[in-house]
Amino acid sequence: MATIFTRIAKGEIPSYKVAENDEFYAFLDINPLAKGHTLVIPKNTEEDYIFNLDDPTYHGLCAFAKKVAAAIKEAVPCKRVGVAVLGLEVPHTHIHLVPLQTEGDMDFRKEKLSLSQEEFSAIAESINKAFESGK
Ligand code: AMP
Repeated sequence: MATIFTRIAKGEIPSYKVAENDEFYAFLDINPLAKGHTLVIPKNTEEDYIFNLDDPTYHGLCAFAKKVAAAIKEAVPCKRVGVAVLGLEVPHTHIHLVPLQTEGDMDFRKEKLSLSQEEFSAIAESINKAFESGK
C-alpha cells in the first residue's frame, strides 16, 4: 500500500504544494513549527530512511531542498531556514525545512501552529512564486 506521502505527491490526498519536479515534491507540513514549515520528499521511492537512498536520489533530494529553502527564505521573513530529518512518524523519506528566528523554532516538542486553510494557501503560493522565479 502506498505511503501517505506518495498519495500526496500523486494528488490523491490534498496538500499545500510549494514546488515539484519529476522526482521531488515539496509541500507544507500540516502541523507546522513555524509559518512556511515545508516537507520535501522523493516521488519515485518510498524508502523510509534517508541514508538508505541511492546516491543520485539522495543528492537530487538535497539539491531540490536547497532550491526550496532559498524560495522559503525569500517568501517568509526568517533569519535562515533550518533543516531536519526525523522520520519517526511517516515512513517515507522527508526533509523538514523550517524558517527560523530562534533556536527554539526547531524544537519538535513544542506546540504546533494552527493555521487556517487561507493562511496555508497564501504561504504555499508565495513560496511557490519565489521557487518558480528562482528556477
Ligand atoms: P516525522 O516522520 O517525525 O518527520 O513527522 C512527520 C511530519 O509529517 C510531521 O511534522 C507531520 O505534521 C507531517 N504530516 C503528516 N501527515 C501530513 C499531511 N497529510 N500533510 C502534511 N504534513 C503531514
